[in-house]
Amino acid sequence: MEKLLLLGDEAIAQGAIDGGLSGIYAYPGTPSTEIMEFVQGSKQAEELNIHRTWSANEKTAMEAALGMSYAGKRSMVCFKHVGLNVAADAFVNASITGVNGGLIVVSADDPSMHSSQNEQDSRFYAKFSLIPILEPSNQQEAYEMAYYGFELSEKLNVPVMLRITTRLAHSRAGVQRSQVKKQNQLHLPSDPRQFVLLPSIARKNYKKLLGMQPAMDVESEKSTFNTFVDGTDKKLGVIAAGLAYNYLMENYVNGKNPHPTLKLCQYPLPHKQVADLYNLCDSLLILEDGAPVIEEMLKGFLNLGKPIHGRLDGTLPRDGELNPNIVAKALGMTIQEGQDIPDIVKNRPPSLCQGCGHRDVFEDLNEVLKAYGTGRVFSDIGCYTLAALPPFNSVNSCVDMGASITMAIGAADAGLIPAVSVIGDSTFTHSGMTGLLDAVNKNSPITVIISDNSTTGMTGGQTSAATGRLFEICQGIGVHPDHLKIITPLKKNHEENVRIIREELEYKGLSVLIPQRECIQTFARRKKADKNESN
Ligand code: SF4
Repeated sequence: MEKLLLLGDEAIAQGAIDGGLSGIYAYPGTPSTEIMEFVQGSKQAEELNIHRTWSANEKTAMEAALGMSYAGKRSMVCFKHVGLNVAADAFVNASITGVNGGLIVVSADDPSMHSSQNEQDSRFYAKFSLIPILEPSNQQEAYEMAYYGFELSEKLNVPVMLRITTRLAHSRAGVQRSQVKKQNQLHLPSDPRQFVLLPSIARKNYKKLLGMQPAMDVESEKSTFNTFVDGTDKKLGVIAAGLAYNYLMENYVNGKNPHPTLKLCQYPLPHKQVADLYNLCDSLLILEDGAPVIEEMLKGFLNLGKPIHGRLDGTLPRDGELNPNIVAKALGMTIQEGQDIPDIVKNRPPSLCQGCGHRDVFEDLNEVLKAYGTGRVFSDIGCYTLAALPPFNSVNSCVDMGASITMAIGAADAGLIPAVSVIGDSTFTHSGMTGLLDAVNKNSPITVIISDNSTTGMTGGQTSAATGRLFEICQGIGVHPDHLKIITPLKKNHEENVRIIREELEYKGLSVLIPQRECIQTFARRKKADKNESN
């Protein structure tokens, strides 16, 4: 089979396609976005009629993937780590329903928070849900794990988590493909009540899930992804999980690592292999990107006196992503410094594009807010969050998807009137709509600005579930027509927009304003594509 040069994300996508994928569901979020984008752009996926559209949010994506699994076909759902929080209800319950067709849940973690609000470790969720985790150490394994994950999922009758981190998702390497597998035929679960989580059935299913744990252990013990390599210096044994194995090996020229090492890429922990390494060495060093998941587990069951080093005892930093230098330091090796970052790429704070409609929205809003003082703007997550920075300095909170509306409600309940929420069109449909329903039901004295750029701008311009329909959606939710207005955020409309915003801030009930102007990046791409088509 051919060899391709692929990003980690793309390797997962190709592995899933070759492994018999019938449908992929996702909500964009860095560093996971390129998985769906690759499948959407794949000719092979098109020929195989693989379903591949963005979902409104991670929970709907997770549920749709479970639905496809119910129907017997292989499905994959992808999001970033914080997206797993949104999908958590469905995700945890999917471990209790079990699967019919294989189901892979890709959760892309972002240690060091390159573009995220936190650096939580998705492995905790999978452990909590009692399902296996696959954690690739390179792009080839990313491909193989997606390819093999469906089989593992069907064999164990549970979803399988494929956990990656930013560095792997966004770096390229050569990937050897395997034989393309046929998609499953549509078939219903043999137990017609498997997916019905009434308490009596859920209790039965949960016992079954617990009963499957030894089989999951066996799969990990015999997994070719977990490999032991002996070494001469037995003073220290190393457990290196996923990408951390790469960081370890980059420190040894010609791959001559002196320490007995367990490369650990499939969970639950292969207890026998871990215990063998422990017995062989005087101490252990645990290398894992993210939280000290393995280290905490080992301190529980291997608490037999030998030192275990890692993130918990300060041998490695407790936060942030690992890299070869950090690992070298933990091993007592001399650090190889790279070149200094050139000034031209250093210290470039992110900012809204010149000409972006969000800029006009905040210029209008800031002018009105001068009369009220600062501290009243609750933002959501999107390009517009950058208005927290100079020159706008407008935004006072950004917590999670949808929180702008609900936090404004709470602040208004506390007496902060008026309070303003700024949310994008994609984020609004992701998880702002239910918050708006709360505001409608209470007639909260808040002004909600849905800054509509007709796309999911921050992640590169994916489709937005509300494009062209925001007004009608807000009407349907029950916003009073007198206080539901569309404006056009352009310099020439500044005076008029300021007047409208001022009026709505003065109104002691709920107002929704929809400034509408397409993201200039997607606009430029669309124009270019149109031009190419007409040539
Ligand atoms: S990508 Fe689009 S929405 Fe984001 S800042 Fe640039 S123009 Fe604005």
